[in-house]
Amino acid sequence: MTDITCKLLVIGAGPGGYVCAIRAGQLGLDTVIVESTKLGGSCLNVGCIPSKAMIHVAEEFEKAAEAAAGKTPFGLTVSQPALDLKQAVAWKDGIVQRLNNGVAGLLRKAKVKIVHGKARFRDGRTVLVETETGPKTVHAETIVIATGSAPVELPFLPFGGNVISSTGALALTELPKRLVVVGGGYIGLELGTAFARMGSKVTVVEAQEKILPLYDAELTGPVAKRLTALGVEVLTGARALGPTAKGDGLRVETADGKERSLPADRILVTVGRKPVTDDLGLDNLVLDMDGRFIRIGERCETAMRGIYAIGDVTGEPMLAHRAMAQGEMVAEIVAGLPRAWDKRSIPAICFTDPEIVSVGLSPEEAKRAGHELKIGQFPFAANGRAMTRHGETGFVRVVAQAGSDLVLGIQAVGQGVSELSAAFGLAIEMGATLADIAGTIHAHPTLGEAFPEAAMKALGHALHI
Ligand code: FAD
Ligand code: NAD
Repeated sequence: MTDITCKLLVIGAGPGGYVCAIRAGQLGLDTVIVESTKLGGSCLNVGCIPSKAMIHVAEEFEKAAEAAAGKTPFGLTVSQPALDLKQAVAWKDGIVQRLNNGVAGLLRKAKVKIVHGKARFRDGRTVLVETETGPKTVHAETIVIATGSAPVELPFLPFGGNVISSTGALALTELPKRLVVVGGGYIGLELGTAFARMGSKVTVVEAQEKILPLYDAELTGPVAKRLTALGVEVLTGARALGPTAKGDGLRVETADGKERSLPADRILVTVGRKPVTDDLGLDNLVLDMDGRFIRIGERCETAMRGIYAIGDVTGEPMLAHRAMAQGEMVAEIVAGLPRAWDKRSIPAICFTDPEIVSVGLSPEEAKRAGHELKIGQFPFAANGRAMTRHGETGFVRVVAQAGSDLVLGIQAVGQGVSELSAAFGLAIEMGATLADIAGTIHAHPTLGEAFPEAAMKALGHALHI
């Protein structure tokens, strides 16, 4: 048994944990990070990065298939494309490997000690780590819990065989002919769309009345339309009941109360994620919980002094950039810097086709908060760059407070709008008004021009509609 003593111990090297450790190291804190699987966490290994790689593969394949079918309006034809999914997955794995190495390098550069193994609290200052070379005890003044989340399993549809989680879906080397997706949220629709674009027959089973219940109908409308065009059947208000007797499909209860069997080679279950706290020894601590998640305050502090929690283990929104921002803040707090959670917004993007971006308050949320509103919306159908990319679907919407014209929220749906989230986030963080956005020269021809146009629309004088 070896003992390690440090100032800061971070448990979990996902985006929350590794960013926290890097920043702590930069600030000269004697820092140890413990990781039980691979550096980079869910995001880098089985989440954000691998899913976006496979979404890219699907997009490229669909473009080639459309050209082969003579469906491009600009006269491009190619011969029938073929996709080697095994090679695509190997390419994706190569990107993940490069990023794993990158995280290891950044931690080393910041002089963070990396311990590979599973951590378990013995008390509020001591953690036992089971490593390949035997148990190690780490004593730390401050501990950050960044153990992330894992897929929720439905008891009547356990993972195994043809029932897979997002992790399984991202490792498939053979395209399922028929894919049933249970849960029409972020993961179900991002991956469901990608598989449909690669040629799978996809059916989505969503319990609520609409897909992506987090976003309003104006934003999800173009996504729903595109799913229909891709031949994806979407069953809303439907309940998964369990596998068919032969195990070759899924039994569902549809919105009209009838039972139906959906044939499937694979059933992808994406009904949310749960915190990873099992076997962490939380019974040896006295933490407040929010359901199964760890309850935190404004500075990510838990109910115990010297113990912080960040990222998915603390609940929604379960987003990598939120975890990273929390990690950076906590490192600075531990180093004694005057930090608090002063963010005005956490951008959210759904990488469907078209993509959805939401930063700040939606019109509904702003109304509920008691604001009188000015709303401006500008369609990509009137944007030259969108037309030249053959992507006229969607719009940018700006939500501002009537009177002050302070921008409260910005949303967009359209092809490639994820990259606009940076400008939207900056506008909200800087407290921009409609006039600030309308008065900023945006380069032509870009999708970004729809942003000042939406602001001008809210001010009553859009130029191009
Ligand atoms: P995690 O990334 O889950 O990392 C936690 C780490 O802690 C893991 O490496 C785990 O092995 C380790 N750990 C757990 N317990 C212990 C222990 N006892 N001892 C030692 N180590 C331990 N978010 C986005 O913002 N954008 C996206 O596009 C996006 N796409 C996604 C796609 C998919 C398919 C999935 C599944 C998720 C996606 N997410 C996305 C969500 C994102 O992955 C998470 O929000 C993010 O990874 C959370 O970071 P975290 O550091 O809190 O936890
Ligand atoms: P989610 O909460 O986005 O969607 C789950 C969906 O499943 C919901 O629409 C819910 O109504 C539905 N559902 C729940 N139980 C069901 C049942 N029994 N039958 C049918 N439908 C059911 O969860 P997710 O897609 O699993 O993603 C998990 C988390 O990962 C999200 O909270 C998100 O924060 C994060 N994520 C983010 C991104 C991104 O930022 N682009 C991408 C993927 C995942």
